[in-house]
Amino acid sequence: VLDSSQALVRAADLTWVEYRARIEADPIVLLPVGALEQHGQHLPLETDTRIAVTLAELVASRTAGLVLPPIAYGARSLPRSGGGSTFPGTVDLDGATITSLVRDVIREQARHGVTRFVVLLGHGENDPYTIEGAVLAQRELAGRGMQVVVIGWWHVLEPADVAPLFPDGFPGWDLEHAARIETSLMLALAPATVRHDQIGPVDAVAPPPFTMIPSPASAVPSQGSLADPRGASAAFGQQLAAVIVDRLVDLLGQHFDAAKKEERSGGRPIP
Ligand code: ZN
Ligand code: MN
Repeated sequence: VLDSSQALVRAADLTWVEYRARIEADPIVLLPVGALEQHGQHLPLETDTRIAVTLAELVASRTAGLVLPPIAYGARSLPRSGGGSTFPGTVDLDGATITSLVRDVIREQARHGVTRFVVLLGHGENDPYTIEGAVLAQRELAGRGMQVVVIGWWHVLEPADVAPLFPDGFPGWDLEHAARIETSLMLALAPATVRHDQIGPVDAVAPPPFTMIPSPASAVPSQGSLADPRGASAAFGQQLAAVIVDRLVDLLGQHFDAAKKEERSGGRPIP
């Protein structure tokens, strides 16, 4: 299930002749949007990008799709969901920058004939800015038949899917930063990048229920993980990745088929 090596899925690996031939088959084209962001003492800065790229390649290998080079920098890391910008190595883009990048890539892909486009998020803070980019692209592309989906890999998971990792209850997606789920996925998808001996407990920190600008370093655990990563496992990560890929393949296939049908019947709303 977790093998994307069989098919050529990276658009950047193709020649223009091969790219043109692949686009003629109206494939799903995925743009992973990650981050360069601290991920505790045990995961690399590119964690969000790496997970999004790998999942996108697995989806593409199952759907004869293509994966574009990722956007490897993300929207501002926040203390309540990513640790914030006080850690060395986190490079935040302004929201407007991400919106422009996403808008331009969608517009360019549309120009070459792509009509099924997926922004696959690896970093939660990118959500509103990538949606904005898709809306602005559609405003320019109205009538060209482009369909865009913006989705984070965690959006397809049900509480029951992650429950086995959390005998004491799931702390929520905001705190799931460099914690058990991301660590499990990295142990499964990029094991050589995980510093096993650095997976340890985190300080208990209760951040206030507001966003501080600037944000004090004391607002987050000094290790960088927002919740305890201990208990993560490669086996669970494999299982979770398989569930995510299955759901994405099903949901995207159904959505694009329905959207195309609606478009042919003249029912497509103006963006
Ligand atoms: Zn992350
Ligand atoms: Mn992130």
